[in-house]
Amino acid sequence: MSNIGSCYIHIPFCKKICSYCDFCKIFYNEKQISFYLDSLAKEIDDNYQGEVLDTLYIGGGTPSSLSLDDTKKLFSILTKLNLKKDSEVTIEANFDSITKEKIDSYVKFGINRISFGLESTQQWLLKIMNRDLDLDYVKEIVSYCKKVGISNINIDLMYGFQNETLEELEEDINFILTLDVSHISTYSLILEEHTKLFIDKEKSVSEDLDYAMYQFICSKLKDYDHYEISNFAKDKKYSRHNLCYWKNNKYYGFGLGASGYIDNIRYSNTRSISHYLKAKRRVFEEVIDNKALIEYEMILNLRTKFGIIKEEFKKKYGKSFFNFYNIEKLLSKGYLVEDKKSIYIPEKFWYLSNEIMVELLESECNG
Ligand code: SF4
Repeated sequence: MSNIGSCYIHIPFCKKICSYCDFCKIFYNEKQISFYLDSLAKEIDDNYQGEVLDTLYIGGGTPSSLSLDDTKKLFSILTKLNLKKDSEVTIEANFDSITKEKIDSYVKFGINRISFGLESTQQWLLKIMNRDLDLDYVKEIVSYCKKVGISNINIDLMYGFQNETLEELEEDINFILTLDVSHISTYSLILEEHTKLFIDKEKSVSEDLDYAMYQFICSKLKDYDHYEISNFAKDKKYSRHNLCYWKNNKYYGFGLGASGYIDNIRYSNTRSISHYLKAKRRVFEEVIDNKALIEYEMILNLRTKFGIIKEEFKKKYGKSFFNFYNIEKLLSKGYLVEDKKSIYIPEKFWYLSNEIMVELLESECNG
């Protein structure tokens, strides 16, 4: 049995398609869902080796778009996965499809974390995004989650749309703060090809305003622990599942378009539902050699405030990090900081992390 501690499950169905969305999603189709869940069960049976999982993440698409019966069917499939008493079990949900009955079924299965797509509170922006949101219902649902014991709640916020102002962004953040959730994930708009926004030639804000918005978010969320470039947590309620990715750990990915990392292979499944239903799953595999493994390790680790833990790195690769990279220049510029335990990018330079990673990759030595 390999050392896999996490599993991602993809539920691709959405009742509405957001204008900016580049994820793997398909229109909600009740008949297809039943076949999809059967195929998902088959994929799990064909691959899962019985490892005890520390985290399970049910993402989408919109998992909360499933009917109550389909949700129960999904959970009956997932009972095959071995979870611990304290495993982190997350489901993604949207406020236009979540109900109290569905939340009750989540609790019954063992979901202990919900990640809600809120994105904005501005009606004109929601219209551009093609999303619906009733702010009173948001408050009601978040307090219901807490009442039934799901206190680990994430809210997603998007920003950076053309003509969006800092005042509007402030209203969004103020609203989210009133919800008093444990985790907030923020996303600056990226106009991906093939999305409606891209085709409609919409624009995002200027680079300067995008930077100002990012800084503004960081200052407004000062009571949260800014532990990753775009993620904020309270009471150490970090996303354990995402930390698995950022620590470059192994994980299963099951479902349409899902990606996984097992046995030194990073893979992605097909985005074609007809292929997936015929069990023609993988469309991409990358064998990770030692060089690529170290590059992934570094790039992913440096996204978080924890950075590269020097001892762990040495244990994994037999040599110190300094055998692989010459980071003196980056240290002298302050882009990287070394302390007793780790090497990390200080928060004030996270906004430049892409540039810093490129410089770091160029500083590679022979090992
Ligand atoms: S709900 Fe999520 S997955 Fe579905 S279209 Fe919107 S952004 Fe994409």
